Amino acid sequence: ATSLWHNLEVSARRYPDKPALDFLGEQVSYARLREQAEALAGWLRKRAGVARGDRVLLMMQNSPQFVIAFYAIMRADAIVVPVNPMSRADELGHYIADPEARVAICATDVAGQLALGNAQLPPEERLRTMLVTRYSDCLPRDIDPVHRPPQAWLEWLYAAPPLPDGAHAWQDALAEALAPAPHLSSAEDLVAICYTSGTTGRSKGCMHTHRSIGHNTIAGTVWTNGSAADVSLGAVPMFHITGMQYAVHGPIWTGATNVLMPRWDRDLAGRLISHHRVNTWTNIPTMIIDLLGSPRLDEFDLSSLVYIGGGGAAMPQAVAERLEQQFGLRYAEGYGLTETAAPSHGNPPSAPKRQCLGVPFIGTDARIVDPDTLNELGPGQTGEIVIHGPQLFKGYWRRPADTEAVFFDLDGKRFFRTGDLGHMDEDGYFFITDRLKRMINASGFKVWPAEVETMLFRHPAVLEACIIGTRDAYRGESVKAVVVLRSEARAGTREEDIITWAREHMAAYKVPREVEFVDALPKSGSGKVMWRMLQEQEAQRRD
Ligand code: ATP
Repeated sequence: ATSLWHNLEVSARRYPDKPALDFLGEQVSYARLREQAEALAGWLRKRAGVARGDRVLLMMQNSPQFVIAFYAIMRADAIVVPVNPMSRADELGHYIADPEARVAICATDVAGQLALGNAQLPPEERLRTMLVTRYSDCLPRDIDPVHRPPQAWLEWLYAAPPLPDGAHAWQDALAEALAPAPHLSSAEDLVAICYTSGTTGRSKGCMHTHRSIGHNTIAGTVWTNGSAADVSLGAVPMFHITGMQYAVHGPIWTGATNVLMPRWDRDLAGRLISHHRVNTWTNIPTMIIDLLGSPRLDEFDLSSLVYIGGGGAAMPQAVAERLEQQFGLRYAEGYGLTETAAPSHGNPPSAPKRQCLGVPFIGTDARIVDPDTLNELGPGQTGEIVIHGPQLFKGYWRRPADTEAVFFDLDGKRFFRTGDLGHMDEDGYFFITDRLKRMINASGFKVWPAEVETMLFRHPAVLEACIIGTRDAYRGESVKAVVVLRSEARAGTREEDIITWAREHMAAYKVPREVEFVDALPKSGSGKVMWRMLQEQEAQRRD
């Protein structure tokens, strides 16, 4: 593996006129993709002062601009920091300050929140340059009926609000057509810092190199039998590690055509699969549940699909069965983490097992260990899933103690502790049964209770809060807040007040769907809130 940039160079030489991307009917050829990434890289180096190894924020929904910007940042020998476009101003300061980013590339719909978050930082920690794109910079003037998204999307896709003060426009930057310096990055250089939260309540940046991301780009494509003949559906969010692999880098490596969805909508997905004859689709299980529930399902032609798989959360058995019986599709579930550049495990598409993570991915050594002694356990025994492989991250950005805490040596190799509990069967397939770490998995979106609690403590009426996960038929798990109010606020505070406040201060998927007020939280001898007990009580109450 060398720099991922070369994958685009090769595909642009081999397939210059072929559409690399289709965005609601607007096609971006491989030649145009490469040319625009070059021009943007030139602008980043010469106009935005980006130097080798600098961190550049990238914040927008799935779009050609995301792909162009990602490749431009790496072409400029800088490091991409992808940020969830749902993030609110209060959350964004950390993503600017922690990686010390001075430049951000974003879309108009998130520019306001980003500018607000930036303004909350001390002046020396702020962004110096913002480059803003309108999604319509890469959209057709009129979207035809096949590609037409829900009406409400048209407003944000075609919105042209004034840019924040001092921000630069995407089209102006491209128009300068500046040539960047020669590309120097290679396999061991960092290409992305991907933020993932944790028990501490503060997001930590996973450092990934061209080698770690590149390994899974290639392995993932080989695993799914990918080729230049592929048409893939880019529906998983690109800022997240799974989308980065399967909706950004994978199709570019093979020279495939990638049909993008700016956001998820089941009817749009059905029409795009039918029209473009999509044959490969990596998704999250919730998307399948949603699509199969569409009243228009009969109108869609899903017969072109050959590979369908995904992960991030468990695929419910009943849904997998329906997919197989009705459409002859065997869902290949996979498993991985941001730390493992997406898959560490996958079900072989030809031999998947149900309710199963699959076998260790290409080139991966995965084991089960006792979480206390770290001794290896045998087949059938439950313990922590640990991983050694070329897709592993280098560590958490500027957090040596956190990095140290998740790695250990086994048989002379450096293994990563996933914080997930499971076992391996006699055939070498892995299963997940529980989690050591405190995390809620809502439709594949990872909610870290400590982070939400820290935010809730800022609410003037909240004395104490504990966030727990509840079972949810559609999302898998759902977020609930158990709250003790300040005595003076008890009379005047309602559940909706907390929820409305939370919506303003945190990304939508973190917002509690339910708030229960209690007089006190159960505490251990050392004064820690006993969240597991609350969670178990809640589960019993619902059974
Ligand atoms: P993937 O690479 O599989 O999509 P992810 O992108 O969701 O994982 P993170 O957001 O870092 O990566 O979340 C990782 C966590 O997601 C894992 O530690 C595990 O708890 C959970 N997870 C991932 N895949 C599955 C699965 N197939 N079944 C149940 N939980 C899963």
